[in-house]
Amino acid sequence: MAPLSEFPRPEAEDPGALAPEIRVPPPGPMSRAATDRLERVECPAHGSRRERRQRESETDMTPIVLASARGSNVYDVDGNRYVDLAAGFGSVSLGHGAPSLLRSIEAQASRLIQGLGDVYSADLKIALLERIAALHPGEGARVILTQSGSDAVTAAIKTAALATGRPGLVAFEGSYHGLGYAPLAGCGYRESFRAPFSAQLNPHVRFAPYAASPEQTASCLEALERCLAAGDVGAVLFEPILGRGGCVVPPDEFARGVSEIARRHGALVIADEVWTGLGRSGSMVRSAAIGMHADILCFGKALGGGMPISACVAPFEIMRAWAENGEVLHTSTHAGAPLACSAAIATLDSLRFRKLASRAREVGDTARAAIHEHLKGARGYCGVRGAGLMIGLELASGDVAQRAVRGLLERGYLVVSGGPRGETLTLTPPLSIPEELLVGVAPRLREVLER
Ligand code: PMP
Repeated sequence: MAPLSEFPRPEAEDPGALAPEIRVPPPGPMSRAATDRLERVECPAHGSRRERRQRESETDMTPIVLASARGSNVYDVDGNRYVDLAAGFGSVSLGHGAPSLLRSIEAQASRLIQGLGDVYSADLKIALLERIAALHPGEGARVILTQSGSDAVTAAIKTAALATGRPGLVAFEGSYHGLGYAPLAGCGYRESFRAPFSAQLNPHVRFAPYAASPEQTASCLEALERCLAAGDVGAVLFEPILGRGGCVVPPDEFARGVSEIARRHGALVIADEVWTGLGRSGSMVRSAAIGMHADILCFGKALGGGMPISACVAPFEIMRAWAENGEVLHTSTHAGAPLACSAAIATLDSLRFRKLASRAREVGDTARAAIHEHLKGARGYCGVRGAGLMIGLELASGDVAQRAVRGLLERGYLVVSGGPRGETLTLTPPLSIPEELLVGVAPRLREVLER
């Protein structure tokens, strides 16, 4: 890796903001060979999904294998350069290899990689907890550090159960919170994710419909009210925008109504900000930005700038429930590990100093409009939605979307799909991506759709 002094200055041509360069049609021979090895050792679920997608879309789905990245560009093992519109499922918000993040990780790597978690905290963990607590709009928030989005939601569900003494959970159709057993029980994204494990999941979960438009708000809120009527629900688990569910932005009135109704029924609101938070949707905390009262916040994905770290945050009056046992009932070996904390501190500071949340909002607004301009009327294109740099391009079907993902890969754009039938291309580029690089995907997508 280049010494830090050699990192490019902003005025130089940004080596992380280059157009795609496809030298070998992807997947090239190196990717194919590596994939053969991969398929002999990886859990076969991945190969099985690939085969299904291949069958259904009648397209070769052999993956590329990644080698390196810089800024908004990713390189595969065959030397092809891509524009990264997935950014580690939305986790690489600063862009790949952001200098401030690298400096922080490098400095910490030689100081202390692993500490002694909840017994003897590392100095950096304390600095991180202070920053995360300050993200909660309430006074005196307390934090549980975890490693994945799923872990953070698990901590939130346990917190609500302890604080309210109620086992029930209301989650929303179409929502996704991770696949550990606690969030899986509330996975409304696809029933098939829960079905094989249903006997082992929390039986006290009810699903309410998620309003995707103002016309649906009243009926969805009435349904929520019915779910809460029995008085046994301790938490309402809410994604401020459906992420994996296809970048569905609900009306603000729906989000606010959810929290009002939950409070009236004595349930706590968990805002799962794993995807929406930390600038991705144009604000640091989406629920707060739209005037929704959330009791417990979950952050993940972007928190570590690509390193695995997440957090569950709530005011002291709620978190005090954890203090009643004389024991730490929720912890793990790597919780608060200093190396991940150093990445999170650098990420949070950089998001703030570079004003990346407001940049995401502004660039997202103009980019969505420009992308739509390029695509309107294209065969199989149904529309754009989203907020900030969380952009959903709805296509006619899952097969059309799979073929589009592939066609874009061949043209040098990394894109993943989401939505209930995999029909939505979900763009979550680095928050630092130049607008023209992002919008550059639109003419290529049009080409792919019309071929
Ligand atoms: N919550 C939301 C809203 C998510 O989008 C995700 C992941 N896509 C999760 C939780 C789970 O995060 P992880 O995959 O890190 O467990």
